[in-house]
Amino acid sequence: MHELSIVNSVVSSVTEWLAQRPERKVSVVTLRVGALSGVVEGALQFCYGIATDGTPLSGSVLRVHSQPVVIYCGGCAEQAELPGVQSFRCPRCGTPSSDVRNGRELEIESVEVEE
Ligand SMILES: [Zn+2]
Repeated sequence: MHELSIVNSVVSSVTEWLAQRPERKVSVVTLRVGALSGVVEGALQFCYGIATDGTPLSGSVLRVHSQPVVIYCGGCAEQAELPGVQSFRCPRCGTPSSDVRNGRELEIESVEVEE
């Protein structure tokens, strides 16, 4: 499963980061996930529970910070946020655009630890 390999890499990054802070326990991990990343939040959450079991992240909460798709519209000469991923047209003027500026993110935004 796509999501499981993503979660496994998140767990290993955070575990590595924690190696310098062995007295800390992770409480929340926040991921920034773009609408075009192809990741399903429900599947991520499901896999997170499995992948963190027996690791220093066990019992922590996964937060998913969804990011909208942002295109650059030549017609408006500015960036526009798309309401969905079905149509790559400017929501203001309707000009099609393939100039995607945002929406493919898949990264760890923050890690919260208990003191
Ligand atoms: Zn436009």
